[in-house]
Amino acid sequence: MEKLHEIAIRYIKGIGPKRARVFNKLGIKTIEDLLYYFPKRYEDRTKFLSISRLKEGEYQTIRARVLATGEKQSWRRRGFKILEVAVGDDTGKLFCVWFNQAYLKDYFKPGTTLILYGRIERYAGRLQMNSPEFEIILDKEDGSLSIARIVPTYTLPEGITQRNMRRIIYQLLDEYLPKINDFLPYDIRARNNLLNLAQSLRFIHFPDNLGAQKEAYQRLSFEEFFLFQLPLALRKSKKKERPGIAHKLEGDLADNFAASLPFKLTLAQKKVVDEIKSDMAKPQPMQRLLQGDVGSGKTVVATIASLTAIQGGYQAGFMVPTEILARQHFERIKCQSVKVSRCQGKKINIGLLTSSATKSEKEKIYQGIKEGKIDLVIGTHALLEEGVQFKNLGLVVIDEQHKFGVGQRALLPEKGVNPDVLIMTATPIPRTLAITLYADLDVSVINELPPGRVAIKTRLFSQKEENPAYNLAKEEIKKGHQVYIIYPVIEESYALDIAGAKKMYEEFKKKEFKDFRLGLIHGRMKQKEQDEIMLKFKQRQLDILVSTTVLEVGIDIANATCMIVQHAERFGLSQLHQLRGRVGRGAQESFCLLISNAASAEAKARMEAMVRYNDGFRIAEEDLKIRGPGEFFGQRQHGLSELRIGNPLTQMQLLKRAREEAIRLVSLDANLVSRQNLALKEKLLQRFPEYEKLIVVG
Ligand code: ADP
Ligand code: MG
Repeated sequence: MEKLHEIAIRYIKGIGPKRARVFNKLGIKTIEDLLYYFPKRYEDRTKFLSISRLKEGEYQTIRARVLATGEKQSWRRRGFKILEVAVGDDTGKLFCVWFNQAYLKDYFKPGTTLILYGRIERYAGRLQMNSPEFEIILDKEDGSLSIARIVPTYTLPEGITQRNMRRIIYQLLDEYLPKINDFLPYDIRARNNLLNLAQSLRFIHFPDNLGAQKEAYQRLSFEEFFLFQLPLALRKSKKKERPGIAHKLEGDLADNFAASLPFKLTLAQKKVVDEIKSDMAKPQPMQRLLQGDVGSGKTVVATIASLTAIQGGYQAGFMVPTEILARQHFERIKCQSVKVSRCQGKKINIGLLTSSATKSEKEKIYQGIKEGKIDLVIGTHALLEEGVQFKNLGLVVIDEQHKFGVGQRALLPEKGVNPDVLIMTATPIPRTLAITLYADLDVSVINELPPGRVAIKTRLFSQKEENPAYNLAKEEIKKGHQVYIIYPVIEESYALDIAGAKKMYEEFKKKEFKDFRLGLIHGRMKQKEQDEIMLKFKQRQLDILVSTTVLEVGIDIANATCMIVQHAERFGLSQLHQLRGRVGRGAQESFCLLISNAASAEAKARMEAMVRYNDGFRIAEEDLKIRGPGEFFGQRQHGLSELRIGNPLTQMQLLKRAREEAIRLVSLDANLVSRQNLALKEKLLQRFPEYEKLIVVG
């Protein structure tokens, strides 16, 4: 049996070493990658819509002939050329417009037949498609692959046309499908009415009809869900067997800390603290995911959990994604718990470990951790370094988990003997999904904000009319408040036509905000400089902080009441919500001002969702809907980024079935040793080599 995931694509007909490189750029390296490189959409080219029946605002496909072409200058931007192409069929006429792509003119000779796909818009009283996708159809069209059938359309590697791509894939299917072996056990397929693998791959690329495409889609989605659920099921079944720490809940440290806070815990916080404590008291290791919107007060909960471990003589490790955040937590927890420990008689030692610490500082902290002198260590990835060895690690807290890869997340707990683990996230995942996707974690939710918070007012401005936004910011400063201005990048990019934080900081200082005190912070500055700027801002020596997304997570300065996000369309929805969470942290009215020239419908939808919703769960749902799960969960969420076509939102039932099948399989054959599961085991280890341990150790 040939291993399709081991054969490089340069050996495929139609792909040589040179093309192989452009394919590689899209992550397509092997034959298997290419077989699983699915079309982004299909066009039914057995029948076309006539121009007279096009609907405004919708994406549609037409077949038409070029009538005439013309060029003009943009009146808005100098040097910007617009190419207009009039096309027509028997029923009417339509204009297609391309920006700054004058070279296309050579392709569009009058009389040429085109297939066009794009959104129909009305502009200056006529119907128009802006930058549609197009394909030129030769009159003596040979390629039956591109016409008179359901035609797949791919996201293309550079320099490859749809036509090339279809031919390459078609040949690939012909050659390799007969050699393919289905790794899903037969009885699972039968129980769930799934097509076999070879048929599915054929129909996902070249379906005979839309029904066949749908069946292929079902099977391939199921396969993804199943491969994702299987390791979770395995992990869960093994975990039960490991002995953990039964923390004692007696002791005043945690209680006194809660009592000493200047506020009362919300009911949701109390409930979650109880859930965590009861987990910690059990001899099984806790694996709990704590979800709560930005500002819901997760840090306090984590601190109480840490003190619970510490009062019983254990150490706690608290990992956060950025240095600024580590410092903020360190200062705050230290200050809060010193108060407690004073009245307690027991001194709690808190350490801070980040990669900018000097070697000798690090050594000192390493030693403190090793000897157990440090009770709680707060740090960044630096905590994962080899030098960090705990005396008796009892609890691991991971804050803003979506910023860490699954691999990284697993490393800190390994520095102890099955410590309890609390994972926190402010990127909420709709509950039903969370239960399924994090099948091996227990989930707690803080579904309530501390009292007195005023909803943040979010407003949208276009780039041409940003002055009102600046005026609003100035008003806020005059009230004694502070302002963030966020840019997506440090240096401006001419190619993308976006401004950067550095240069705008200089400009603002000279012009727009010359009467105010400005600071600049970004990730390429030395840590010490960043700290100094943050400190100045915190101490109100600055009115405005111009920043990149280094401020994205966790920063908590209640006096900052206004955030301006420049080029807001450059940010994902959940990211915008995180950013927005930096304001509205006190009782004052707060503003989030999005400045954007969102062009695509998708970007517009994102901006509108931001204005409409304040609730993180709602935002997350919208984000999932708009971007799809792959993008939503991001590259780092190992496993989830493996979901290429499966969509947990629209295929919840299928996901549940895949999960049930995974649990069933693990209960019957926990080490995947039976004969009908061997191919599956091989596939699993090929996808997730790190699970070798899970299966073999047993
Ligand atoms: P997040 O969940 O985003 O990490 P934090 O833990 O940073 O939120 O808390 C946000 C702010 O709310 C902090 O200033 C914190 O001290 C405050 N806070 C937390 N819990 C409460 C509460 N129950 N009542 C009032 N303020 C609270
Ligand atoms: Mg936080």
